[in-house]
Amino acid sequence: MEYSLKCNFCGRNKNDIAFLISGINGHICNYCIEKTYSIIHKKFIIKNTNEKYKKDNKNFEEIKKPKEIKSFLDKYVVGQNEAKKIISVAVYNHYKRIQQYKDCNKKNIEIEKSNVLLIGETGTGKTLLAKSISKLLKVPFAIADATSLTEAGYVGEDVESILTKLLQSVNYDISSAEKGIIFLDEIDKISRKSNNPSITRDVSGEGVQQALLKILEGSVIHVPPQGGRKHPDQKMIQMNTENILFIAGGTFDGIEKIISDRIEEMSIGFITHVYQKKKNSKKNYLKNIISEDLKKFGLIPEIIGRFPIVTYLNPLNKNMLKKILLEPENALIKQYQKLFDMDHISLNVTDEALNIIVDKTFQLGLGARGLRTFCEKIFLDYMFDIENVRSILNIDKDIVIQKLSCS
Ligand code: ADP
Repeated sequence: MEYSLKCNFCGRNKNDIAFLISGINGHICNYCIEKTYSIIHKKFIIKNTNEKYKKDNKNFEEIKKPKEIKSFLDKYVVGQNEAKKIISVAVYNHYKRIQQYKDCNKKNIEIEKSNVLLIGETGTGKTLLAKSISKLLKVPFAIADATSLTEAGYVGEDVESILTKLLQSVNYDISSAEKGIIFLDEIDKISRKSNNPSITRDVSGEGVQQALLKILEGSVIHVPPQGGRKHPDQKMIQMNTENILFIAGGTFDGIEKIISDRIEEMSIGFITHVYQKKKNSKKNYLKNIISEDLKKFGLIPEIIGRFPIVTYLNPLNKNMLKKILLEPENALIKQYQKLFDMDHISLNVTDEALNIIVDKTFQLGLGARGLRTFCEKIFLDYMFDIENVRSILNIDKDIVIQKLSCS
């Protein structure tokens, strides 16, 4: 009685359909299979999306507000309030941006990302800021150095390698890496090498900037999973950089002169007492930085445009240097005290001794970097001869003068 076979769901006759699948007590046709599949599939997607939304919102509530982020940074970085404030807001907004839920019923306003450019002398805390923020972050974070980058095909690293670092930090979880933050150090080292177009290609300058642009703009990039040069046989990972936040840092040696020349040019005939007073302060020059100065320094306008937030770090004065020695969570003196304490030695450094270290560091002009150099010189012999050091080690002015006498 084959002629009477029909689908038990829609009632179609076997002759009107492509096929029927038999069950224990009935049959289902190809039309009904397709329909039930699409119902199940839709339900499954909606359920998953809702769960993701709930999870994202839960995370968002846990995210620290800008003020909290800044007070966390205060524990590690002395001074630099403006930069800390700007980074705190940029990071917080980055969270909001990546967690915005695309609700079809609401008008979707896309929040654009705001990459940050940090300018400041060497040893003023640019990298420290980036490292400190990474301790707090709930998104992937990587630090890359622009110095080694060159245009594709030349000796050096391809710009895509900076994305490899981010991928590696999350064990190649592409979707989380696509929401990460990259600190790109020494960005000033890829400035255009000369203002005159020359015959030789500027492979580590403008060439790198052009290549970097693609990544900063947000597009799908082919990333070599192991970094290094792209090999034809290496399987590339596709990564979308649209949601990656870039914080770039650089010393931009000589930019103060560019700024001061511009200001001087502008104020010819209008030189006021106020301006004369400000003239010698480096800090004030950086405060006045505009994109034109960066362009003159050698960044191409497209790159400048990709860093809407430009901020500066103040040169460190003696007061800040002293604070750096004593106050942060992992201040240098605290570190030495801990080292000696592990050998049951109590270390005490007098105020006068600290002042000499600070004076010497200030003269050296390497920011806070000099502090460690001098401290190492002072403590080296004691650490080498640790078993003969008494239980209380007092470092006073005379010891410091003697230890640093040849520097
Ligand atoms: P750069 O600005 O050249 O990136 P770093 O952040 O690497 O400088 O600073 C070098 C070292 O000096 C850091 O390890 C840190 O210990 C110290 N340092 C620099 N600036 C500060 C600061 N503002 N607060 C605390 N420590 C600082």
